Amino acid sequence: MASLTGGSYPPSLDDELERDRLAQVIKDWSIANGLAVRPPPAMTSDPEGILATTAPVTIFPSPFPKSCFEEAKLIQKTYNELYARISQDEEFLGELVQEVAGGDEFIANLWNVHLRVKMEGYVQNLALGLFRSDYMVHQDGSTLQIKQVEFNTIASSFAGLSAQTSQLHTYLAQTEYSLLKDTSAHAGLDLPANGSTKGLAAGLKAAFDAYGKSELGHRTCVLFLVQDGERNVFDQRHLEYELVQQSLASGTGAIPVFRLPFSQIPDRISIAPGSFKRQLLYHLPSNPSAVFEAAVVYLRAGYGPRDYPGQAAWEARYQIERSAAIACPSVLTQLAGMKKVQQVLATPESDGSHSSALRRFIKGDDKVEGLWRTFTNIFPMDDTTAAGQKARCLATDPAACQGYVLKPQREGGGNNTYRSAIPGYLQSIPEAHWGSYILMELITPPPLSNIILRNGQLEHGGVICELGVYGTCLWDQTSRDGKILHSEESGYLLRTKGDQSEEGGVAAGFGCMDSVSLV
Ligand code: ADP
Ligand code: MG
Ligand code: MG
Repeated sequence: MASLTGGSYPPSLDDELERDRLAQVIKDWSIANGLAVRPPPAMTSDPEGILATTAPVTIFPSPFPKSCFEEAKLIQKTYNELYARISQDEEFLGELVQEVAGGDEFIANLWNVHLRVKMEGYVQNLALGLFRSDYMVHQDGSTLQIKQVEFNTIASSFAGLSAQTSQLHTYLAQTEYSLLKDTSAHAGLDLPANGSTKGLAAGLKAAFDAYGKSELGHRTCVLFLVQDGERNVFDQRHLEYELVQQSLASGTGAIPVFRLPFSQIPDRISIAPGSFKRQLLYHLPSNPSAVFEAAVVYLRAGYGPRDYPGQAAWEARYQIERSAAIACPSVLTQLAGMKKVQQVLATPESDGSHSSALRRFIKGDDKVEGLWRTFTNIFPMDDTTAAGQKARCLATDPAACQGYVLKPQREGGGNNTYRSAIPGYLQSIPEAHWGSYILMELITPPPLSNIILRNGQLEHGGVICELGVYGTCLWDQTSRDGKILHSEESGYLLRTKGDQSEEGGVAAGFGCMDSVSLV
């Protein structure tokens, strides 16, 4: 395998004229092709909501080991199956919720939404997952192995911008790189196609088609539940436009897609009166007599406590969950994405064998072995198991905790505690709540460098890359061996951050968009 850091790739762009030229081409291409976000309020005032700015992006695609890339793509359908099966297993999830809920009101509230709906009975068997499994390349001597950072089951973002980033780097390879004095970025780049936008749209369409026609005579639609003031709106719009394209191409006519801020659910949504099927109705604000039946509700909000400022927001989530619309995700699917689940899957039995949890959901030694290879060490923080007690010793020892990250059951970036900050953080919370966290070994990818274009400025230096592989899955959630109707590997994301930064979220302002150059 070619060395990741070998040769002069990527070029260092010492020449200011070359740097400026490439930056200008990228700025223009990004706006022209929707590799863009809304500007942050601090950057400029935009009362009319008309401005866009370039998404942060690397100037060159980062080198990524081909064998690791292929392994991550190949295992995705097994991951789809694993998480579909977990979400079917209410008993398994319920036990883990009990372990974390004491120190985690948000998880407890989610579980309560599920219990309320269970009591009256679910009216929709199907659940849709637009998943993303995230990895870093771990270097152990001369061996490179993908190790999973986390598995996302809700609001897995950047599929829309990621396909655009692959296209940007492909365009630059076809045009600009060959004009550079340093020819290392020009010859023989292996840039794989990226079907992330198409793949996620196809997942949404599979669920829309499975829902079928409205029995009430309404037009059916897809709802995107979004956050107020969302800046990453074009990422979501790419999925919407592609969904419309795919529905037109299949001859069914354009699927109506509506964006609904989570806070406006009570005003715009109702459950069909007098129908035991609980169809979810959407009332168009510009024409209240226009009523649509939501076939699919795609949540790009609702993944963290900030989206639930009060009881009304929890009531709104309950109405979505109890309705006939196919939720992406259902509450159980969202809970399957808890870091606690990932920890339990990755914690070996006391005799060192693979976790019984993993074997409970996945049959076949090859599949189990394939998943296991992607796990790194993750420990519980409880005080009842040997693994938990070991983790508590590690996490409270300022020297021993250097190689670890402490994670709560949260999504969206910015929630973790790293290395030497862990003991102090644990001191600041009641010990009774430690069990709501997991302790994970830090993955150490090989050093790379690249140039990031962020807010018009170039940043040159060491970088760390995180690969995400998208998976789309539609399944019957109501029984332990319920049918899987659709399961695909659906493209990839490469996110890159400066090697001084612990977190890598693009939306959270730490990372940037990238694509792979296979080596
Ligand atoms: P979230 O659900 O908030 O995105 P993550 O588990 O993905 O939480 O953690 C956020 C970021 O922290 C990751 O994108 C990565 O940059 C860093 N990180 C998390 N776990 C590890 C790990 N085990 N090794 C190295 N970096 C990690
Ligand atoms: Mg996450
Ligand atoms: Mg993450």
